[in-house]
Amino acid sequence: MIEQNMYRPTYLDCHSTTPVDPRVVEVMIPFFTTHFGNPASTNHLYGWEAETAITQAREIVAAAIGATSGEIIFTSGATEANNLAIKGVAESYFDRGRHLITVQTEHRAVLDPFDYLQSLGFDLTLLSVQPDGFIDLDQFQQSLRSDTILVSVMAANNEIGVLQPIEVIGQICRDRHILFHTDAAQAIGKIPLHVEKMSIDLMSLTAHKVYGPKGIGALYIRKHTPRVKVAPQLHGGGHEHGMRSGTLYTPQIVGFAKAIQLALTEMDHETQRLTQLRENLWCTLSSLEGVFLNGHPSQRLPGNLNISVAGVDSEALLLGMQPIAAVSSGSACTSANANPSHVLKALGRSTPQALASIRFGLGRFTTAQEIDAVATETVAMIQSLRHGRKILF
Ligand SMILES: *Cc1c(COP(=O)(O)O)cnc(C)c1O
Repeated sequence: MIEQNMYRPTYLDCHSTTPVDPRVVEVMIPFFTTHFGNPASTNHLYGWEAETAITQAREIVAAAIGATSGEIIFTSGATEANNLAIKGVAESYFDRGRHLITVQTEHRAVLDPFDYLQSLGFDLTLLSVQPDGFIDLDQFQQSLRSDTILVSVMAANNEIGVLQPIEVIGQICRDRHILFHTDAAQAIGKIPLHVEKMSIDLMSLTAHKVYGPKGIGALYIRKHTPRVKVAPQLHGGGHEHGMRSGTLYTPQIVGFAKAIQLALTEMDHETQRLTQLRENLWCTLSSLEGVFLNGHPSQRLPGNLNISVAGVDSEALLLGMQPIAAVSSGSACTSANANPSHVLKALGRSTPQALASIRFGLGRFTTAQEIDAVATETVAMIQSLRHGRKILF
């Protein structure tokens, strides 16, 4: 049981999830209670109300990425959207080719569906990245084959925040008539996205990384030039043009649209503010010897800072952070064993470097005072851990 008045460290884990903005909660509430109808009920007011709300939400989500309403399929989040896109395309196009391409630094919700397809007999190319986290565009072009059916490259990385050159990748795929999918779970509402300008054929979205509720997301599926075919992965009542059966979750969908709307309105201002806070944090932390930045210094999400710290025990570092701030690290601990992050390893970081890392995820509710305090306390904590030790990995 967690006590109500327990001390709460500063929340700096916004790449894991974000709080729901109170303005989003407000528009969701009526759809739990008075406007609770099933949008598929076409015979009464309750159904019409829900259907109208969903139509509006779908238009907002579509417009946010330069798409049309008919190209948006609501899902339970980005994991499901990635699965639907990747497995759905593989199933629909396998008679055209069996070759698929993705990148080593993708989220597990992309890598695992590709691994699964590989186990079914598809041929997978896993592109490596450069030390700054970018894919090598020459290597990428050389990997394209006449039997390549799908390329999947994320817009913004969830660990190091690196923004891949999506527009360039999209154009290369379009020229070769290869479908292009992007996991934009971290990117939506943080950087401009446009499916036409960026030649994107499929795009995965989620609400809970952008101050919306958990359990809702969407897959954009291009309808024209080309019309993309995706085999459904959930069969049932034929909702979402048969692409994703299951009663639509009206409150979450309404909240998702509101969250996107707010993020777009505030994007320019937030980008400036968070970049400044992130730079302040980095400025203080990098005053210490042996603190390294992971990922490209500027081509990254404004709220992302990922560092490796030399000369400290990785477990002690994470324990030391716990009272200061809620952050993530490049190690996924499973009782006795710590697994280094596959993303940091792909950048060429050693296992000790990857393990002794901290991911700071700043967000809408992060204040300058919080960042000042966290920066100072983190420096002091690292200094105390290093007491008398050589600052080497
Ligand atoms: C969080 C995240 C996901 C998973 O999204 P859910 O909506 O939680 O399923 C997928 N990809 C990336 C890049 C993410 O950051």
